Amino acid sequence: PLPGRDILRVEGLEVDFDGFKALRSLDFRVQAGELRFLIGPNGAGKTTLLDVMCGKVKPSHGRVVFKDSIDISKFQEHQLAELGIGRKFQAPSVFTTLTVFENLALSMKQKRGLLSALWAKTTSEQRDRLLHRLEMIGLQDKAAARAGSLSHGEKQWLEIGMLLMQEPDLLLLDEPAAGMTDSETEKTGELLHAISNNQTIIVVEHDMEFVRRFAKTVTVLHEGTVLREGTMEDIQSDDKVAEVYLGR
Ligand code: ADP
Repeated sequence: PLPGRDILRVEGLEVDFDGFKALRSLDFRVQAGELRFLIGPNGAGKTTLLDVMCGKVKPSHGRVVFKDSIDISKFQEHQLAELGIGRKFQAPSVFTTLTVFENLALSMKQKRGLLSALWAKTTSEQRDRLLHRLEMIGLQDKAAARAGSLSHGEKQWLEIGMLLMQEPDLLLLDEPAAGMTDSETEKTGELLHAISNNQTIIVVEHDMEFVRRFAKTVTVLHEGTVLREGTMEDIQSDDKVAEVYLGR
């Protein structure tokens, strides 16, 4: 990632669901290496924006530009994954009967098929990458455990690790700490900060405690467009945000 450059630029975005504009006149930019939180009341358009950025939903107007030059607004999900945009949905989806290590090995970016990935020996360079990811997600002691035996939080970290094995430049996460215990939530926030040393992350989050604790820059959506953007302090002291979002 190149610090100081936009990894993603959204311009004049509009998403139309049968005449209902879920997003409208939405401009949004994120610099490489940021950990950006997207917040806003229910129905504000957060999920739809994430869906557009991963190619699941197509805009009716506007552009989404990746890495300064690639207009990705018409790309399919698998093309965006290939290009370096990884999306994690809220519910963990790991291979429960495989071990943690196998789950990571299967997710490794490679040209070989999935089965051969599992059967073939991993190279030492691949093993190093796997071990590094295992450590990063805090599951080094659970490498041989079946993924199905992990706690909810551990499964979520494993899935983030699986996403990282694809080496995305931009990670899109939907409520990564949902349903976690306090200590798991804390670890998740630390994990996001560690990841953002090398990759850009956009997180949709409802848990305001989590946002207060871990966010630096926050974008507030309201009625399908950006209401405010700034540091957590700016956002918390903004009257308009308080009015529409915090219900003060
Ligand atoms: P948020 O994630 O901020 O809660 P969403 O992006 O899920 O908001 O939804 C934004 C608006 O678009 C909501 O009013 C929602 O009802 C509507 N919406 C979302 N998906 C669809 C869809 N597939 N068809 C019709 N309306 C939708």
